[in-house]
Amino acid sequence: MSRLLATTICGSLPKPAWLAEPRTLWAPWLLEGEALAEGKRDAVRLVLRDQERAGIDIVSDGEQTRRHFVTTLIEGLDGVDFEHRKTVRIRNRYDADVPMIVGPVSRRHPVFVDDAAFLRGATERKVKFTLPGPMTMVDTLYDGHYRSREKLAWAFAEILNEEALAIAAAGVDVIQFDEPAFNVYFDEVRDWGVAALERAAEGLPCTTAVHICYGYGIKANIDWKKTLGSEWRQYEETFPRLARSKIAQVSIECANSRVPIELLGLLAGKDVLVGAIDVATDRIETPAEVATTLRAALKYVPADRLYPCTNCGMVPLSREVARGKLDALGAGAAIVRAELAGDG
Ligand SMILES: [Zn+2]
Repeated sequence: MSRLLATTICGSLPKPAWLAEPRTLWAPWLLEGEALAEGKRDAVRLVLRDQERAGIDIVSDGEQTRRHFVTTLIEGLDGVDFEHRKTVRIRNRYDADVPMIVGPVSRRHPVFVDDAAFLRGATERKVKFTLPGPMTMVDTLYDGHYRSREKLAWAFAEILNEEALAIAAAGVDVIQFDEPAFNVYFDEVRDWGVAALERAAEGLPCTTAVHICYGYGIKANIDWKKTLGSEWRQYEETFPRLARSKIAQVSIECANSRVPIELLGLLAGKDVLVGAIDVATDRIETPAEVATTLRAALKYVPADRLYPCTNCGMVPLSREVARGKLDALGAGAAIVRAELAGDG
């Protein structure tokens, strides 16, 4: 059995300045060809060492091989035109240039399977691989073919399932689907969102997770959060649906969050990845602050189901800040782990 309060991260970490422009979403690559392929692998090795040194138990490749967590997958599919991009509004908050769907989508070849195999071979720790969820994919493109968010989501769910099965076969321990769109389209979550997510995860032999969140710490998201009021109760509807789903783990932001912590009780029966690191600020948490967040969550989540984690991806931060936050996460979890051992 693995140790209590095994730590993990949501997924992304900042890239080295020689690989992509720092502190930029969708930053273009600064290398080409074979040098780019080698540079990506070196960047993965670096983020693995940073996580291992910080005491992170279930590590990720920090999404070092992808320009963006959604579009890199979409661009690997048939039926997509990514040369003629369209500008759309993402989750009603900010504009982005996105690929356009021009025909039936299909997966001709694996997209991330080689990356997953490299990650598996580069560390002794348990590894997590992240994929976008179907609804979030639908929300990050222009659909000129299906003209139905639901139909397109089901098509993506089948493609994701093929990709996820191949990634799991590469020896990955956890596959996490990122569904920030679950926090915006509540009717769709009810009508088809959770079902499409389950389809994407169908038959996976590894642990399955879903990350839902209020978005990266970019200005458009921070401004949007200011409109949500003093208590964020949006998850009151979503959590019971996820608790009834076949997905094993739910990742949720708890550091500096206005999500009432007692809502975690609605996830009974699930592993909860408790975000104890705020990714919307450069201030590095102290281990004591991380421990405080974890103790609060422990009132509603049993210790053997609690996984200390980051609120969201850390790609918008500087590498130095991200490393400091990794260290704080590992050290804060160790404090509470020692307290629990003392109780035993
Ligand atoms: Zn997130």
